[in-house]
Amino acid sequence: MKRIYLDHSATTPLHPEVISLMSEFMQETYGNPSSLHSYGREAKKYVDEARGKVAALIGAKADEIYFTGGGTESDNIAVIGSALAQAKKGKHLITSSVEHHAVLDSCRYLSKNGYDVTFLPVDRYGMVDPDDVQKEIRKDTVLISIMHANNENGTIEPIEEISRIAREAGVIFHTDCVQSVGKIPVNVDALGADLVTISGHKIYAPKGIGALYKRKGIQVSPIVHGGGQEKKLRSGTENTLGIVGFGKAAEIAVRDFDMENVRIKNLRDKLIQGVLDRIPEARLNGHPEKRLPHNAHFSFSYVEGESLLLSLDMKGIAVSSGSACSSHSLQPSHVLAATGLPHELMHGSLRITLGRENTEEDIDYVLEVLPEVVKRFRAFSPLARKLS
Ligand code: PLP
Repeated sequence: MKRIYLDHSATTPLHPEVISLMSEFMQETYGNPSSLHSYGREAKKYVDEARGKVAALIGAKADEIYFTGGGTESDNIAVIGSALAQAKKGKHLITSSVEHHAVLDSCRYLSKNGYDVTFLPVDRYGMVDPDDVQKEIRKDTVLISIMHANNENGTIEPIEEISRIAREAGVIFHTDCVQSVGKIPVNVDALGADLVTISGHKIYAPKGIGALYKRKGIQVSPIVHGGGQEKKLRSGTENTLGIVGFGKAAEIAVRDFDMENVRIKNLRDKLIQGVLDRIPEARLNGHPEKRLPHNAHFSFSYVEGESLLLSLDMKGIAVSSGSACSSHSLQPSHVLAATGLPHELMHGSLRITLGRENTEEDIDYVLEVLPEVVKRFRAFSPLARKLS
């Protein structure tokens, strides 16, 4: 059976060039980069090289990149670490109600420990209003954390405007760029960010490696203590193999950026149009234009997202119902809820995210299978009969 992977916002396969470099590295270079002998120095050389490549991906300097265990850890360090470092200045944070749980739950942890957090609402596309950010800033606000692009509906937030407001108020600004990096331009200066989260496995590098960009001079307390690696911000022997893979993936993301993203966006647009044309009462969630080029997120009335996902899987098509990060729970997505989507549509949602290996034939196959599957489910619903 034909198998098509269309869940690249959950994770990506390793790029063949990443596999090749990692295989070479893992056979020959096993030193601890903190060791002073030649084995250690050799490993450190690879880590430094990768740091430079990851920095180049986001327009940063190499010494502003801190390797971590992934996007979740970077978000935790950014939110909790910067709050701890500024506890004397104040204990108020601002974030949005559509953030990834790595940010939301870090904020909730702080709010149980003496901090006050404002969770901003969003509009029907999932967009934060910069005026709302402005209104909520107080004397004791120490961090504003708003994601660059949403992992579920793909909406791109007005980060430049929000960061300007933060800067004018003298508040540190963090943005989670896990989903945007490699897909749309991410430049720390253009975004005006003090702290940026990125993750390897969304850009064809391995899982369990990520980075935090920290602008020079920004104070962040460590939350993992130990050997003092990564300039004392993230203790623990470096995941050298992951770092090398991440560096290579970052280099490829820069090299292939224009070509890949235009190609993928064209395929994605064909998919969206095809679905809206072929399936009655199909709704595109997220912003129609200000969205990630590889993301298509739909709701279908009278259909249940999980059943749809499983039926597509049986036909060889791998997609996600809402967000893979929250698929462990049957709670409706907090992102779709924040956009005011009615309950039945939230439960009938499907996220399709394209990547570098997808082709026009893949999209044709989805457009052949998906309308049939939706029609079949609707045939069981008395409410849906009028649609067929
Ligand atoms: N932030 C966003 C926006 C994400 O989409 C994800 C994962 O899907 C994360 C953070 C967590 O990253 P990681 O899986 O590397 O821990």
